[in-house]
Amino acid sequence: MRVAVIGAGPSGIYAAEHLASEYHVEVDVYDYLPVPFGLVRYGVAPDHYSIRSVRDKLAETFENPLVRFRGNVKIGRDVSAQELQEHYDAVVYTYGASLDRELGIPGEDHRMSIAATAFVRWYTGHPDAIDFGEYLPYASDVAVIGLGNVAVDVTRILIKPMSELELTDIPQHVLDALARSAVRRVHVVGRRGPEHATFTTKELKELGEIPGVDVIVDPKDLPSDFAQAAASNKVVARNLEVMSDWSKREEHADKSIQFHFYCAPVGMDLERGVLSVMKMKLDENGKLISTGDVKDIESQMVIRSIGYRGEGLPGVPFDQESNVIPSVDSAVVGLENSYVAGWIKRGPSGIIGTNKKDAVACINQLVSSSSESKATSAEIIDQVLADRGVNVVDFAGWKRIDAREKELGQSRGRERTTIHNRENLIQIGLGI
Ligand code: NAP
Repeated sequence: MRVAVIGAGPSGIYAAEHLASEYHVEVDVYDYLPVPFGLVRYGVAPDHYSIRSVRDKLAETFENPLVRFRGNVKIGRDVSAQELQEHYDAVVYTYGASLDRELGIPGEDHRMSIAATAFVRWYTGHPDAIDFGEYLPYASDVAVIGLGNVAVDVTRILIKPMSELELTDIPQHVLDALARSAVRRVHVVGRRGPEHATFTTKELKELGEIPGVDVIVDPKDLPSDFAQAAASNKVVARNLEVMSDWSKREEHADKSIQFHFYCAPVGMDLERGVLSVMKMKLDENGKLISTGDVKDIESQMVIRSIGYRGEGLPGVPFDQESNVIPSVDSAVVGLENSYVAGWIKRGPSGIIGTNKKDAVACINQLVSSSSESKATSAEIIDQVLADRGVNVVDFAGWKRIDAREKELGQSRGRERTTIHNRENLIQIGLGI
């Protein structure tokens, strides 16, 4: 059998790993980027060294001669989904969810109102990122909307001292821009309370450990019946403990992270440097309702961290309501021999390990439904791409990029510096 996997992030690589090592199937892993690893490279925060090091484990999959990395190939532009169907026995879609979501409030389209997805792309060195470096000297106060782990990552990168950021693999131009940043206060704004936040405790706690930064929580926002709120969920219990501790701390640092719970954004006037929020409360049934009071939070920049959203691929069914590829037991509804795993199947939730289980279940389903192989040889699809002038970056190409990033980092006393320019990546990858 030969299988194509679309998306070289954790889900795709776990799927390839299972196909090759468990079932001895040949796999081509395609990605429109010239480098593998998806959100491990372009999502996980640069200062989360141990999670980023998952990359090394994922890279081992490509050492298996049955697995090929086919980078810099865009499905729907360079090769169609239908052509893949013809050349492979099955296609597994694992390309994640990379779009942002909108709040739908006035002022949101201001250039200083930024989607967290875009901001994360910038500081991780994604080749398609918008450069936000010029904005940072003009914002002393930034509001980060959302109470999830992405909001925590963005907050940390905005406020962490340079001495800590310098040790990371952040691209040099981003590091230089962060050094010029005027940000002194980050306001984390959530429409619900601390017990409803989706932070994981380890990530939340890190905010309180940043040198020179106070964390401010209003004790009035903590649930009055602490034990009851915490009883339902261990993570909630641990998060409440952390936030309760912060609410008792005295403030003395120059920089701060301030939580604004029960504040639903209703508009922003970033020319005036203001985010307006409606104060919310829970009614007797635990339903979130408006109090009618609007307050302004000073912020010259707003980062909307309210979740990721998947997008469709030409020729592949897509559910516009839930922004996923519709599936039953990982099999794509309405497309033969096609499977789906990861965020584009389940939506944007869960940690990296969640995708491993999902990918394994998907591949077991694929293999149990497969019949005799009808795939063409690898050379045929390679020739199709070559005839179209597609510069495919393979795993040897990634190794060249990897080596160059390490060299670049070490020349500046860092372990690695991420190269962000697509053309550079392609040239290094192709050995030009
Ligand atoms: P998330 O955990 O789903 O958080 C989204 C936040 O946006 C929620 O607080 C939600 O509030 C809020 N929100 C949504 N619509 C809103 C609106 N219209 N107005 C105001 N607030 C709104 O998503 P995420 O932070 O993007 O993270 C995505 C996934 O990646 C999660 O599974 C996360 O754990 C994972 N991740 C993990 C790590 C890590 O482990 N280190 C790091 C980053 C991301 P409501 O609850 O009120 O809807």
